[in-house]
Amino acid sequence: MNTEEKRYADVIIDISSDKLDRVFSYHIPENMKDSVAPGSVVTVPFGKGDRCVRGYVTGVSSATLYDPDKVKDIAGILTDGFDPKANLVGLAAWMRERYGCTMAQALRTVLPVKRSVQEKEKKTIALSLSQDDASAALREMRKKHQNARCRLLEALMAEPQLPWEIVRDKLHITLAQARAMEERGILKILSEREYRSPRAMQAQNDQPVTLTEQQREIADTIISEWDRETADGLQYLIHGITGSGKTEVYIELIAEAVRRHQQAIVLIPEIALTYQTLMRFYRRFGDRVSLIHSRLSAGERYDQFERASRGEVDVMIGPRSALFTPFPNLGIIVIDEEHEPAYISEGSPGYHASEVALERAKREKARLVMGSATPSLQTYYAARNGFVRLFTLPQRPGSARLPETEIVDLREEMREGNGTLISRRLREEMEQTLSRGEQIMLFINRRGYAGFVSCRSCGKALKCPHCDVSLSLHNNGRMMCHYCGYSEPVPKICPSCGSGFLRSFRAGTQQIEEETAKLFPQAKVLRMDMDTTRGKDEHTAILSAFSGHEADILIGTQMIVKGHDFPDVTLVGILAADLSLNAPDYRSAERTFQLITQAAGRAGRADKPGKVIIQTYDPEHYSIQCGAAQDYESFYEQEMGFRSLAGYPPAGGIIAVRCSGPDQEYLEKACGYLGAFARRLGGRCMVSVLGPADEPIAKIQDTYRKVIYLKHGDMNVLTHIREKLEQYVEINEGFRTITIRYENLA
Ligand code: ADP
Ligand code: ZN
Ligand code: ZN
Repeated sequence: MNTEEKRYADVIIDISSDKLDRVFSYHIPENMKDSVAPGSVVTVPFGKGDRCVRGYVTGVSSATLYDPDKVKDIAGILTDGFDPKANLVGLAAWMRERYGCTMAQALRTVLPVKRSVQEKEKKTIALSLSQDDASAALREMRKKHQNARCRLLEALMAEPQLPWEIVRDKLHITLAQARAMEERGILKILSEREYRSPRAMQAQNDQPVTLTEQQREIADTIISEWDRETADGLQYLIHGITGSGKTEVYIELIAEAVRRHQQAIVLIPEIALTYQTLMRFYRRFGDRVSLIHSRLSAGERYDQFERASRGEVDVMIGPRSALFTPFPNLGIIVIDEEHEPAYISEGSPGYHASEVALERAKREKARLVMGSATPSLQTYYAARNGFVRLFTLPQRPGSARLPETEIVDLREEMREGNGTLISRRLREEMEQTLSRGEQIMLFINRRGYAGFVSCRSCGKALKCPHCDVSLSLHNNGRMMCHYCGYSEPVPKICPSCGSGFLRSFRAGTQQIEEETAKLFPQAKVLRMDMDTTRGKDEHTAILSAFSGHEADILIGTQMIVKGHDFPDVTLVGILAADLSLNAPDYRSAERTFQLITQAAGRAGRADKPGKVIIQTYDPEHYSIQCGAAQDYESFYEQEMGFRSLAGYPPAGGIIAVRCSGPDQEYLEKACGYLGAFARRLGGRCMVSVLGPADEPIAKIQDTYRKVIYLKHGDMNVLTHIREKLEQYVEINEGFRTITIRYENLA
């Protein structure tokens, strides 16, 4: 008699229906014990008459919540070919647990919705002219100022065949424009069958760059550990400034994966993925590269994923959602610009791409390689603690120097009677830069928050006495904390220095544009912010124009920090570092440091030295000092000190419980109950519960928003409390009209 304990499996039956969160319990027969795991595809008896149906196992345990005598046996395991979707189902189960959402939401995130659309034919654009004729055509088009057509023709002269998706998405050419050029005999638009002819987008293998010694060492180390098995997963971080050669290392590693018949996922923030970078991947891997982006329809994304699961693609490049490409044999996941907030989903589940990537890598025995000039504190903390292997690339290949930085004290400027946003030093430098015919970028880090209140005399912002984040000024004249709900009226005098110069701080790109126009009426100015860029196309179009030196000055929010090479930019001005520093968020110093470091990376290239001017009311702040010195290590030390004292991640865990609903009074009441329940639960295990408080944006489209924060040193304790809250909400009818979203902060 076999006396071993019984095993049970959670099984979802139909992954294309809406009842995705219905999980059924089945007993695992003795002979299948070793082969059933999360992600297994099984057949089970189901419904009336025990019809045999296909199901996916989402979890395995030694207990069942149901009467063991009534739980049925799994009928069989399907091994008919490998099913990449099964891995993703297992991953969804993990995400459900980690982030608190329904199984249906998790599954919808990892499995694209099936849509029966006609698969679109891939198109390729091919140059039809000789180089000489092309040059002549280019001259003619220049005279007519046909900028878009010139852009395409130049690209084709360098690369005679280009995939249509790149021409459309990265060169911003419409099909009508391409057709017009085809009619004039300049190019040909080839369909799939035609371009699969000999010398199409095949990998050209044209002399890949020779890696520097440092790049070689990173690549060799990771390759030498390729077959190692570890419980923590194989994780690497390349800490290197923009242009230090990280992408070259990724390409080398992906080539290794391809040699081993494995596939690669490359996450790059959409704005940061330039035409040049994308072409480097295409030149190396040909049309085995596929690109997804946020404007694809559900059907198009589904097609791309189908191609990947059929093995027609080796490398998938894209934003966050590319992480769920159903590759049959995943070898490597790359996350470039790892610190980017865009890698945190604002939907449900509110997942972090790097955490999910690590989990997927562990499950599929792949490796995770992250890169950044300013790694998130979370990742660097993991590196310091030995979970992530850290490499640094401190220099740019060649001899490019880092720009010179200078901090301008705006309090001084104020005392001297200059109340504008452009200091006298910045103005001088701008004059000189313009007279040399070089370009300028001016940044303002404005996020959609209510203004904070600060002292123009000593520079201090007013903070919450409980949470150490800035208070936000509201229309009713009171200042509020968006973490704990504390509020107070604006004081008459500054609590730090006694001056009467307390003001709310607001500054926008439009205001800067006006001031710039007044100071430099002859300069051509471009502005980029939420108002000037409705779609992503306009966004990159402005950057392309500036990159092509169609303007002297570019003014924008942090969105202009990324992507594109600006060889002529030699002056960067950060107009009010305080705007990000005093955002009502515990990560404000980290965001400020990142902004300064990334912005500084835009100034100057090998042949032209650059200059960065940082304007602030708080020149001694470590994020500004370290940013100006490009000193990540000391920033990390000081910021970790603050996080540890205040119990903020990565020193401790925080879960935000975000509640929203159409009826303000009702929402407040419900959040009150939820908060009280959380306090009762949390009291025993020392979880602190903050709030409920209004969100920084307390109302969006007639929906009111409140938040409760749960804080504890151990994320597992918080996860436990969150599960209890989920159950409480589930059984209380009173929460029906309220939407609740859980978010793990990091
Ligand atoms: P990052 O990803 O860190 O921004 P890249 O890999 O894009 O850096 O490299 C920046 C530039 O330097 C690119 O134009 C790249 O082609 C070039 N480059 C990188 N590594 C080398 C190398 N070993 N030899 C020559 N050029 C290199
Ligand atoms: Zn003061
Ligand atoms: Zn507070």
